[in-house]
Amino acid sequence: MLSFQVFNSGYRPIPSVPGWGEATWPAGTATLIRGEREAILVDALLTVDEGERLAAWVRESGRDLRAVFLTHGHFDHFFGAGPVLGAYAGSRLIACDQQVVDEAVRQTGAEVMARWNALFPGRLAATPPVPSWSGAANLDLEGNPVYLRTIGGADGVLATIAYVPDLRLVCAGDIVYNNIHMWLRNSTPESRKAWLASLDAVATMKPVTVVTGHRDPDAPDDDAARVIDQSRRYIEDFERELAVSGTARELIDRMLARYPDHGNRYTLFASATSQFA
Ligand SMILES: [Zn+2]
Repeated sequence: MLSFQVFNSGYRPIPSVPGWGEATWPAGTATLIRGEREAILVDALLTVDEGERLAAWVRESGRDLRAVFLTHGHFDHFFGAGPVLGAYAGSRLIACDQQVVDEAVRQTGAEVMARWNALFPGRLAATPPVPSWSGAANLDLEGNPVYLRTIGGADGVLATIAYVPDLRLVCAGDIVYNNIHMWLRNSTPESRKAWLASLDAVATMKPVTVVTGHRDPDAPDDDAARVIDQSRRYIEDFERELAVSGTARELIDRMLARYPDHGNRYTLFASATSQFA
């Protein structure tokens, strides 16, 4: 008998952004897939403080952690893994695709790390752990399968997911968003099309629940149909409004009119300005 629970980091303040002002980094999630005695964690957040709170939260579950599965190579989904891995000697950080491993390694390179440290001064691990390839397409949790699958493009890097058939649960990483502006910075018509195809691929699995990598802490639920449909519409609306906008500001205003309640407006600023650079 499996169950799951979700940890939400909340929005993270970052230094004020020229041309925008007060800014936050999108709220992120980590999902604990629980058996009776053991568990698997999907994604591991960002800062050292988050990692420590995450480790305490896993400990409270009373389960022994077997692995931390990383959905994609973006820093904000695994830099917090250190304290969790440290608390469970038998656990390891894994990815199901070598491209995710390579991207994660790239994000811990000196030059890229300098960029992240400027965003989160004094709050990141000096040497974040990097994943290794899982070597298998499925994990076994007390006799129940957890499928690890490469899906395709999303917010800039290769996206993979964890699918738990027993729970009809997909941990979708950054393929699907829940009530938060989507990271379309430097996206192109082709990359947006690829992202829509990835949403279709997740829908094909017919999940009931989709835990999104970024989720507004006050989102009403994790209903698969709602969040997949919402994400699909957001990308289509961005495409449509981009085509009729003459400036980034106009694109921002048009998207805000459609999504007044979405969290992390800085993301929309980053997405919109990149289209007019
Ligand atoms: Zn992310």
